[in-house]
Amino acid sequence: MLTSSIYMPNEKITIQGLLYSDESYATITMENGNISSIEKSNQANYRQASPKNTADVYIAPGLIDIQINGYMGVDFSGPKLTVEGVRKATKALWKAGVTSYFPTIITSDIDRIKKNFAVLAEARQDPEIGKSIPWFHLEGPYISPFPGFRGAHLEKYIKTPDWDEFLDIQKAANNGIKIITVAPELKGAIPFIKKCVESGVIVSLGHHNGTAKEIQAAVDAGATMATHLGNGCANQINRHDNPLWPQLSNDAITATIIADGFHLRREEVRTFYKVKGVEKTILVSDALDLAGLPPGEYTRGERTLVLTPDVVQLPKENVLAGAASPISKCVGVVMEYTECGLKNAIQMASTNPAKLFSLEDIGEIEIGKRGDLIQFTMEDNRMKILKTYVNGSLVYSLD
Ligand SMILES: [Zn+2]
Repeated sequence: MLTSSIYMPNEKITIQGLLYSDESYATITMENGNISSIEKSNQANYRQASPKNTADVYIAPGLIDIQINGYMGVDFSGPKLTVEGVRKATKALWKAGVTSYFPTIITSDIDRIKKNFAVLAEARQDPEIGKSIPWFHLEGPYISPFPGFRGAHLEKYIKTPDWDEFLDIQKAANNGIKIITVAPELKGAIPFIKKCVESGVIVSLGHHNGTAKEIQAAVDAGATMATHLGNGCANQINRHDNPLWPQLSNDAITATIIADGFHLRREEVRTFYKVKGVEKTILVSDALDLAGLPPGEYTRGERTLVLTPDVVQLPKENVLAGAASPISKCVGVVMEYTECGLKNAIQMASTNPAKLFSLEDIGEIEIGKRGDLIQFTMEDNRMKILKTYVNGSLVYSLD
């Protein structure tokens, strides 16, 4: 069993490859769950050690996805969520190089939200998969009810912010909710944001049509993020007064982006990246549970969704319902679109989310950090995961 030792790693594992950050050849040892040594040498040793005509093997910290709705047919907002389902999704994510993720529950009936967060809270304590689930993300239900801005969220469950209700949800989640996506223009949103921030929850602005004034008020109340900037927005907006400029121009806001090659155009990704910089950009997959399944038409609750090889559509509302690719794909796309290089792409897909959410033991390769590492090749800007380690144990191997 590959994963049986994940909570009590006792074996010593040594891996080799090119460090993502400077392409030096590194030998990294993991013991008792953590990185115990890093030896660097020059690339010539690597070239000698590896067979000719094979792709370079890189080592990076495992990817961290702070917005993911489900995976491999397991829907975190669905009616049948179980710990076993979460286990299935987690193991499939390990294959995609994701060592930590924030299961995301979207706008739904409040009882469903509470019930599913209780399941996720149990999964978070699970000895096998819990280490891969540091926190949760609640996207909604306090978002814009208007078409376009609400995206694929069901209008009938959208509401105005209610602090007591949120406390109930947080209780069901055993205090695991660390991000809430909120629309700042809603009645009561600003005091609500303040309370969330005071309680330690990071507030992200999303699925909204906030004015510059409302966005500034949200930032003054402590909001620090924008959820999938450029998506969750109507197709037709005013060229001067729209939610994009104030979020782009405000340095207090870190933007998450879905760089899957479909949710944003190349020029949008390049522009967002230039404005926010590598420090204030975070890649997210926003993958739906359909990610990983064969293309076709699927019924999810009260909605009919169409899965293409690249993306999930909601034909009734003519909007994208979510992504069909894991965050590892976004790493390659952002490199292609922005020419940012592997080091910066990994920073946006691992180091930045670890820092923003104070996950101090992951997101970087340093002695003493947790052994959450991936080995992979990059061919034509496509990341191919060879091996994934969580807490110093091998949890996935391609061969
Ligand atoms: Zn969304």
